[in-house]
Amino acid sequence: MTIITRFAPSPTGLLHIGGARTALYNYLYAKRNKGIFKLRIEDTDKERSNSKFSEDIFSSMKWLGINWDQDVIYQSKNISYHINLVQRLLKEGKAYRCYCTKEEIEEARDKAKKEKKPYKYNRKWRDFEGKLEIPYVVRIKIPLHKKTILKDKILGEVVIENNELEDFIILRSDNTPTYMLSVVADDKLMEVTDVIRGDDHLTNTFKQLILFSLLDWQPPRYSHIPLIHSQEGSKLSKRHGDLSVKQYKENSFLPAALINYLLRLGWGHGDKEFFSLDEAVSLFSLEGVGKSPAKFDEKKLNHINTFYFKKLNLNELLKIISSNYKTENYNKNLIEQLLLIFQERSENIKDFLNGIEYMLSVKEINLSEQALAIIKNTQKNILDLIITNLKNIENWNSINIESIIKDIAKKENLKLFSIASPIRAAVTGKNHSPSIFKILELLGKENTLKRLKKAF
Ligand code: GLU
Repeated sequence: MTIITRFAPSPTGLLHIGGARTALYNYLYAKRNKGIFKLRIEDTDKERSNSKFSEDIFSSMKWLGINWDQDVIYQSKNISYHINLVQRLLKEGKAYRCYCTKEEIEEARDKAKKEKKPYKYNRKWRDFEGKLEIPYVVRIKIPLHKKTILKDKILGEVVIENNELEDFIILRSDNTPTYMLSVVADDKLMEVTDVIRGDDHLTNTFKQLILFSLLDWQPPRYSHIPLIHSQEGSKLSKRHGDLSVKQYKENSFLPAALINYLLRLGWGHGDKEFFSLDEAVSLFSLEGVGKSPAKFDEKKLNHINTFYFKKLNLNELLKIISSNYKTENYNKNLIEQLLLIFQERSENIKDFLNGIEYMLSVKEINLSEQALAIIKNTQKNILDLIITNLKNIENWNSINIESIIKDIAKKENLKLFSIASPIRAAVTGKNHSPSIFKILELLGKENTLKRLKKAF
């Protein structure tokens, strides 16, 4: 039997890292078993759904490399099929019309709240056999005095007494099906064999198992992944907006790093820390998923991101840099040296771009406060000496530059640092940089002198 998994997000917000992890596990499980990974957009809640969020889900998944098979399925397109199922369940006596008014339900809810009891619908209309010409919702007739058993591939066996479940709604008074019914109908329609999702869906799963059984359908296998918690221990939710995949993309994180981090957030394979997506496909198993919630650790994510950043090759670095600067204006050899020097000094792409900016930007460089202070604290005659001596260098390379700067220091009886730091301040605008001799060589004589004159 072909394994079919699905990722079924509701387009009500940006793709969050929790959702991305669910998508990843479904993708890996399908690919590991040579199966099919489908994407279904659960857009039946018209008020909260927005196509801009579906677009975000698509682009974030593509960016991460979690590619789905076949066309995207939109749940809203299947609504008439879902409504037909409601009619079938009504006809078979497995569901019933409930004529309670909103006010009645509200009142019962308030009462439960006052008594500090959980609210549960009282099954008032369950045995009513007639039909009234007033608005109604359709509720499922939970088979009472029975148990529902979930054989979860991660949590093991979980059992619930059906009496604990309320007769949940499957059709609203405006004739729209609810999530509970639509999910079951679509999972069946899409021939999903395995549902892998967050354990916040556990109660839904029992209701869905009951629906499968009332419809005489074979349910899929379920695997519930423990949710991701924040460092403080609370559940991560869509409200933690800065944890969207989009935000990480905009902050120049590498997709391979995010994938690796999400994979390890709840799954392990011995002590192995780093996995490419292909490796993950060949090693992934649901047995490796932990039973307790994983803690989101930004530091660890940064560490993994640095690992992948350091592994970028010249072509990849060039691609990053050329989307920000006109690299064709530079000598190829020079640009390659620059990329390697700055990669070594940086932790991530942001750092790298910040560092390299003063080398490639055609705009005038800004001097930091520290840089200005360094120049201000250097004697005027030293600044003049620097310019005259550098001007005299005929063969502009780091070795000659170094020896000239050392000469000045020696003649003036100063430490090398006292000469190098005003130069660094003037040409980079900062108080730290890679080897200043190399920087001057790569910047070129003309550019160096221009910056020195301007700053001094
Ligand atoms: N649409 C649901 C959500 O975004 C997921 C449904 C499911 O995985 O069954 O939480």
